Amino acid sequence: MTCPLCESALQPALTEVVAVQQDAHLLYVRCRHCATGSIAIVTARPDGIQAVGALTDLTLSEVLDQRGHPPVSEDDVIEFASALSIEPNQLTLFQR
Ligand SMILES: [Zn+2]
Repeated sequence: MTCPLCESALQPALTEVVAVQQDAHLLYVRCRHCATGSIAIVTARPDGIQAVGALTDLTLSEVLDQRGHPPVSEDDVIEFASALSIEPNQLTLFQR
């Protein structure tokens, strides 16, 4: 994965699993390089791991406060992003 903002290889200073359901993991990641916070939903698929993320200004605890039912799909993460006041067009497909 690369950071959606600075595009450096993402070596997160902080990664926290916010929610897990079945094969979907919702993660909060803070970039070690530029300190940008992102939320990402990572799903295991037959053709590999897919990660979709969005930048967020929220801290981990604020993300946790926004957590309702665990998001489980890309549609859910868009809804989740919208709950965090992130525009869907800011969603970025992380590079593997
Ligand atoms: Zn970065």
